[in-house]
Amino acid sequence: VLAGRVAIVTGSTSGIGLGIARKLAEAGADVVLNGLGGRDEIERLCGKLAGACGTRVAYNGANLMVPAETRGLVEKTIADFGSADILVNNAGIQHVSPVESFPEEKWDAILALNLSAAFHAIKAAFGPMKAAGWGRIVNVASAHGLVASPFKSAYVAAKHGVVGLTKTVALEGAEHGVTCNAICPGYVWTPLVENQIEDTAKARGITREAVIRDVLLAAQPNKRFAEVDELGALAVFLCSAAGQGITGTALPVDGGWTAH
Ligand code: NAD
Repeated sequence: VLAGRVAIVTGSTSGIGLGIARKLAEAGADVVLNGLGGRDEIERLCGKLAGACGTRVAYNGANLMVPAETRGLVEKTIADFGSADILVNNAGIQHVSPVESFPEEKWDAILALNLSAAFHAIKAAFGPMKAAGWGRIVNVASAHGLVASPFKSAYVAAKHGVVGLTKTVALEGAEHGVTCNAICPGYVWTPLVENQIEDTAKARGITREAVIRDVLLAAQPNKRFAEVDELGALAVFLCSAAGQGITGTALPVDGGWTAH
């Protein structure tokens, strides 16, 4: 369904981004991976993915904290592949702390990566998408783009911002064949979730097991972590012909969390 399309997936060296990149490649798209990690290991990953899917898979190590590098990711993809038809803004970080002691540099970093990087990438990709009359932008927000939890001030603010950005870009692209949607996962089993269990335990003064049972999955009525493949399948649907009428939405994949 996506043969001939070129996709950039930010933060795709692990977790949800990698799951989305894999599904886009399986659907026939050429894919540019991005994110942190050891270059050799990532090059092996590109080779494996390209071999399994029969598409081109490249890596660009742009640090998305730096606006010029974010623009460069889009510009280099267009130079090397001829276009950037699909942009998945997925790279994100988290920090859990009460607001009165929330480190200012963590606030700045979370806003820079989770929100501003999406803006800079969209800004660079949007003109060429409009000119081509076709484009798909998928922003990985969060259930925290729709509702809040305590101790996550920067993350919740950034993800609400991503949902607002999504709506605005959708309106600007609506007459040009460019859709823009946000996917809002609840808890997905990835390194990001694993890493915040310890911090949440400290912030609340409870055990790891209690964090999983009473904090993380307490909000998620279906009582299961989503799998990264489920997010990948949704991204492919949004990028397919069947998804052309869907734009400006924030789609929860949260087991009923935001239905409360
Ligand atoms: P992850 O930590 O597994 O992956 C994050 C990716 O971002 C990695 O590839 C990492 O290398 C990359 N990254 C980090 N800093 C970067 C930088 N400066 N420049 C470029 N890339 C950078 O996390 P994940 O759980 O897969 O999360 C992916 C996205 O999904 C995030 O935006 C996160 O907020 C969102 N999300 C995750 C969950 C969840 O339960 N895991 C739930 C809702 C939303």
